[in-house]
Amino acid sequence: MEEYFQIEAAYGLIGRERWGDWPSRVRRNMDLLLELFDRTGCRATFFFLGSVAEQHPDLARRCVDLGHEVASHGSMHDRLHRMTPETLRQDVTGSKRLLEDQTGKAVRGYRSPSWSLTRETAWGVEVLAEAGFEYDASVYPVRHPSYGVPDAPDRPYYLQSVEGGARILEIPPLTLRVMNRNLPVAGGGYFRVLPKSLMMRGLSQAAAHGRPGVLYFHPWEFDPDMPRMPLNMRGRLRTYTGLKSAEVRLEKVLRSFGGWATIGGQMNRFEDLAKKTGVFTLRRQAAG
Ligand SMILES: [Zn+2]
Repeated sequence: MEEYFQIEAAYGLIGRERWGDWPSRVRRNMDLLLELFDRTGCRATFFFLGSVAEQHPDLARRCVDLGHEVASHGSMHDRLHRMTPETLRQDVTGSKRLLEDQTGKAVRGYRSPSWSLTRETAWGVEVLAEAGFEYDASVYPVRHPSYGVPDAPDRPYYLQSVEGGARILEIPPLTLRVMNRNLPVAGGGYFRVLPKSLMMRGLSQAAAHGRPGVLYFHPWEFDPDMPRMPLNMRGRLRTYTGLKSAEVRLEKVLRSFGGWATIGGQMNRFEDLAKKTGVFTLRRQAAG
């Protein structure tokens, strides 16, 4: 749950001090998603940015009242690579408490901005576990220039930064295994740019192997009328492609597979799966 002007492609272009200059679209887009989930019988986990919850104090409560889960996307949408353990702690604890005050429910899960929990930012695991999160959904098991851990498991597991460190239950997004590689097919730009048959194949493959099919979307991806920002060409391509058809495409996917539920509502199943998968360590000790 974030605004279009808070995305990574706009970082350095639209600073926080100028967020107020851009019209908010998140309420309109959330209404669209809540209606879509209502008519398809889906329940979802909404990872709220603290800054959005501050600006719109009623939205998180509405999600919970409709049977959805509210979780945390941090506060200011900084990649972990630009943070320290101390600034991440501040970013997550304040926004977690705010969402808990607004909903009256514990916030159990976290999703990092732009999949930025990687080997370089492994220290984040300790911070998240200490902040009281029960699960994390931030490690994309794919090869990508700015994020991902290609050899991380493609199913629920226990994540730790170092041997013997604090652990957290990790729920990875959907990937499609092709020729010994994981393709990212869970959502975002891939969903809007690539044929939706890839996401469908990923979901069929996950179901056949007993893996959950975890998808992700941003509110602005369903908003063809949002104001256009002066992004560079790559940013424009990634941000403004496929917006008009996104709602119809997602509805087809949701109707093709049943049982869409919140992550928090499936914790027992995910714990059982993670026990089978085991522990994955982000930082290995160098030999000698
Ligand atoms: Zn985000």
